Amino acid sequence: MVTEVVKSNELQKIDPVFGQMSFDNHEQVVFCNDKDTGLKAIIGIHNTVLGPALGGTRMWNYKSEWDALNDVLRLSRGMTFKSAITGLNLGGGKAVIIGDAKTQKTPELMLRFGEFVHSLNGKYITAEDVGMETSDMDLVRTVTPYVTGISESKGGAGNPSPITAYGVFMGMKAAAKYTFGSDVLEDRVVFVEGIGNVGEALVEHLSNEGAKVYIADINQDRLEEVRDKYSVEIYGGHNLYAEQMDIYAPCALGATVNDSTIPQLKAKIIAGAANNQLAEEQKHGLLLREKGIVYAPDFLINAGGIINVYAELENYGRQEIIRKTENIYNTTLEILTNAETNDVTTHQAALNIAQSRIDAKKNNK
Ligand code: NAD
Repeated sequence: MVTEVVKSNELQKIDPVFGQMSFDNHEQVVFCNDKDTGLKAIIGIHNTVLGPALGGTRMWNYKSEWDALNDVLRLSRGMTFKSAITGLNLGGGKAVIIGDAKTQKTPELMLRFGEFVHSLNGKYITAEDVGMETSDMDLVRTVTPYVTGISESKGGAGNPSPITAYGVFMGMKAAAKYTFGSDVLEDRVVFVEGIGNVGEALVEHLSNEGAKVYIADINQDRLEEVRDKYSVEIYGGHNLYAEQMDIYAPCALGATVNDSTIPQLKAKIIAGAANNQLAEEQKHGLLLREKGIVYAPDFLINAGGIINVYAELENYGRQEIIRKTENIYNTTLEILTNAETNDVTTHQAALNIAQSRIDAKKNNK
């Protein structure tokens, strides 16, 4: 376990990078340091068999460099499988910049970061993630072409969140079809936890379809704003996991499906936008299966965002973005059925299919 590695000074000294559990066969890890701008960044390139490693840059005030390293490794690995399962010719990568995006992000720092990205000659292509804005990517674009998620006025594909939400909605409908025999969500009770950019757009789709939507967020203003726009209710209790519901949609942070929440969960389906929803992939995937809760793998159904930025590289338009995002419905149904046939968790079934696509490409070289 990575946490054990982090806790033990002894182990930290022995296995700083290759020994991390989250290392998981990364091709390359690049540490970027610039004294003048204060830039400290790590770029993780997990796998480039299917194409260049594409994944966003996260700026976060990590408690330690170990946390930053672990985060970038976990996230870049996730991108490999996300692109592979979605059928995109992209590998998996991600970058983290250590620091507070509100106070430490300067144009000079972003430009220096862009130069490091450029030095990799397109093996890694960056985009936005937590702590980044479209304007930051526009700035990076002035020093390297290896960036996506730039403004529409500069040829970019624009805000990915509505597309991500549409993909989650498609995945949720497929999970409903598999579980209830119908993908109509009218009158289904859905709890959306986290009503930020993606959560709100998902709420709109659900409310248009007549689902009974409850919303939860730590931001009270946001809750009231979203409630006033759509016909949804603010969840007034203290433990939404234990509520009677058809679908739980995690759209805030990861790891909300864990040792403590799974025993309480009454939902029949979990389908949401958050990355890394299962605190421990294997263990919690199995626990959900034992409880008969259908889990729509996060990296599969939240791929709308990457489909959107991939359009910038492949020069496809809005229609193709929508078509590829709608296909998340078919892939989700395929994965849920495959998991049942092969007696594996849905998460594992998605990983297996993604890995087989990578292996096929590798063996054809
Ligand atoms: P966001 O920052 O706009 O929204 C997150 C929301 O969650 C905020 O309203 C915040 O107040 C709320 N929140 C935070 N902690 C919470 C808690 N403990 N309980 C309840 N609410 C809480 O982020 P977003 O862009 O909407 O992304 C949501 C999730 O989807 C993230 O995990 C993100 O990594 C993932 N995701 C987003 C995209 C995308 O296109 N934006 C693509 C793939 C995955």
